[in-house]
Amino acid sequence: MGNWKLNGSKTMVAELIKALKVPATECPTVAVAICPPVLFLGQAQTLLADSAIILGAQDASLNTEGAYTGENSARMYSEFDVQYVLVGHSERRTLHQEDDALVAEKFAVIQQAGLTPVLCIGETNEQFEAKETQAVVERQLQAVIDKCGITALNKAVIAYEPVWAIGTGKTATPEIAQQVHADIRAFLANSDAEIANKVQILYGGSVKGASAAGLFAMPDIDGALVGGAALNADEFAAIIQAGA
Ligand code: PEP
Repeated sequence: MGNWKLNGSKTMVAELIKALKVPATECPTVAVAICPPVLFLGQAQTLLADSAIILGAQDASLNTEGAYTGENSARMYSEFDVQYVLVGHSERRTLHQEDDALVAEKFAVIQQAGLTPVLCIGETNEQFEAKETQAVVERQLQAVIDKCGITALNKAVIAYEPVWAIGTGKTATPEIAQQVHADIRAFLANSDAEIANKVQILYGGSVKGASAAGLFAMPDIDGALVGGAALNADEFAAIIQAGA
């Protein structure tokens, strides 16, 4: 899944989508999704009409409609065939002060609109150094479980994204990521073993074509949430191919 963040232009959207259709078609067993900025969703929807590439959005308002200047609602995304919405991305948590309670509320609103939330969780570098990773991701997950119930994870994706790896070029080793993914499943299994086993857990944090295969070889890593490399057709194609 590619997170384009605040990047793109009409030309870039057209070129990148055209290029990505090739590996997406050649690797039909890999679910490929892209999350362009909201302004490009209409263009992307049109360009993807003949493709299996899925559209996602990067954030959603807590509200469906009304006097909320500048916001975009999950219900509106449905009109653009958006299926996934990122929630709790570290950039939203940090730059927009989105706390666990707000993230859980947004998660609920996204599901109520019939879309699939991609719940982003992960520790900062300080927390990693202090060996607090497990406590942090459990707290972030628990907030959603408290608000929505464990069964809400039947229709959700989790993205483990250590903040120290996002946009830094410092990917977690496959072993480190695998351990956290396994810990996440063990934590969820305390509430529901079947859901823990079934829920898709993506890894995110400086994934590139060269690092993807090692990560995907791990038993509890089900895919990747990709930022920078998702803007480069060759890199993203290599990540798709690594998942095939
Ligand atoms: C992200 O923004 O979710 C991300 C993982 O970014 P990058 O791949 O650039 O680290």
